[in-house]
Amino acid sequence: MIAGPEEMILAVHVRGLDGMCAGCRAWWARLTPYPCWQAEWATSRQARAITARFLEGARTRRRELRAEYAGAPVSLALYLGAYLVQASEDMPWAPAGALHRRFVGWTREAGPQGR
Ligand SMILES: [Zn+2]
Repeated sequence: MIAGPEEMILAVHVRGLDGMCAGCRAWWARLTPYPCWQAEWATSRQARAITARFLEGARTRRRELRAEYAGAPVSLALYLGAYLVQASEDMPWAPAGALHRRFVGWTREAGPQGR
């Protein structure tokens, strides 16, 4: 994989031993507290790309589940309910409403072709 601008920036703009950005010091002889704005920009771009990939994966999986359980919405809710229970055990700090929406709530929303 070819490194994008974010990877190249993050490879150079690293925290120095004194807490300043080593990249800013080496490239521009500038003392900048780490993370500098270049590192923050690259980190936020990467986070946005990861979130977009995750959301696309979730949309795809929901489409597949709707097709698999077409005409059996209760079975789908029971199947996902088991994962909801597991997730609430694994993440007791997560708000119950958010977990419910993520695991089961979306099944009650209208799908791409109605229900
Ligand atoms: Zn920097």
